[in-house]
Amino acid sequence: MRVSGVLAREALTQLGVNVPAPRYAARAHLIAPSGETLDDGLALFFPGPASFTGEDVVELHLHGGRAIVSSVLDVLGAFEGFRLAEPGEFSKRAFINGKLDLTQAEAIADAVDAETRAQARQALRQMGGALSELYDNWRLRLVHALAHLEAVIDFPDEDLPPDVLNKIWPEVESLRGEIVAHLSDNGRGERIRDGLRVAIVGPPNAGKSSLLNWLARRDAAIVSAEPGTTRDVIEVHLDLGGFAVTVIDTAGVRATENAIEREGVRRAQMEARDADLKIILLDATTGEIPGELKALIDDNAIVVANKSDALTLETRIIPAHHFVSVKTGAALEHLMDELKAQVAQRLDVDGLAPLTRPRHRRGLADCAASLTTAMMQSAPELAAEELRLAARALGRLTGRVEVDEILDVVFRDFCIGK
Ligand code: GDP
Repeated sequence: MRVSGVLAREALTQLGVNVPAPRYAARAHLIAPSGETLDDGLALFFPGPASFTGEDVVELHLHGGRAIVSSVLDVLGAFEGFRLAEPGEFSKRAFINGKLDLTQAEAIADAVDAETRAQARQALRQMGGALSELYDNWRLRLVHALAHLEAVIDFPDEDLPPDVLNKIWPEVESLRGEIVAHLSDNGRGERIRDGLRVAIVGPPNAGKSSLLNWLARRDAAIVSAEPGTTRDVIEVHLDLGGFAVTVIDTAGVRATENAIEREGVRRAQMEARDADLKIILLDATTGEIPGELKALIDDNAIVVANKSDALTLETRIIPAHHFVSVKTGAALEHLMDELKAQVAQRLDVDGLAPLTRPRHRRGLADCAASLTTAMMQSAPELAAEELRLAARALGRLTGRVEVDEILDVVFRDFCIGK
């Protein structure tokens, strides 16, 4: 249990516990004002500002049973000036007190929710400030360019170095290039966070449900299985080689006169188009690929012929990447290996940390758009306004929007009016 704020120490003294040396754990017999013993645990004291929230923080390590927790909460809550924290309030205070920025706060939430290794790795990296550093660095460079441009506008008579203007635009251009490159990452970070979508499509009775069941059972770490928005789309969340994957079982795709079935088929095709990867599952014994499915075969498709156990010498062989039998399990491990490889190929991140939320994508797109507009302005005042908008878009990402620092840079770099 954590207490943060100016009264944090009070929590300990009122519970009859001596305040331990900063950052050292000490045995703590917690006693209610009534004299009743609440628990026998450990207490730590983190004086601000060197604490998580930046305020004085007390941590109580208790026996986590419901009765003990609620009685300690009741006693603490009855003290003058104490109340329960709002959800995320500790992180919010840490943000307000400058201990972390918005991307780091988001990463804490992601770390708590992480269900696969890749999700945890990504969250920890972002929590460590990988995105903060990237965005702060970009913003700093932008603020510099802006400051130089403002200097040219505001102090035309001063002796500014002659190449100041010439340096601004190449810098803005290269900044824009870096942001656009960061944006065009195929949504890796978001997919690691939300899960890569894999659709199983195929004609009715090809064995789609059987394959989904096998995948779900085979890959021990099932996160959850829930019906999709419609009865004919089932989603199963899997941990595939450390990556979060959502496998979607769709309605059988075939030409049909039935209106309801046609709607199911339409949705199946939509899911298939939107999916990051699709398994086109065919019945090998039919010896053909239906026309509706041929259209779906592309670089993101793994064509699988099922029921290899039922093949006869007479069956025409269809061109598939894999021949498997969900019934006997034949060659399913190969399919699994390929699936893992394809997922890893789409989600493995090296180099810069990827953006992880639509919020980041929007902010960066706004920023890049303003930079583009800035470069097209002939009037320096208008260009400066666009650069200011671009800097603000970046500032919103980390939650840092100081205006005065633009002036700071002007005066530090040029000593105008000294
Ligand atoms: P879906 O309509 O595509 O979801 O197909 P199902 O998974 O419901 O399977 C349709 C039928 O094919 C069922 O009777 C399964 O038992 C059968 N089936 C699935 N996989 C195989 C297989 O590998 N070999 C054989 N012989 N039958 C299979």
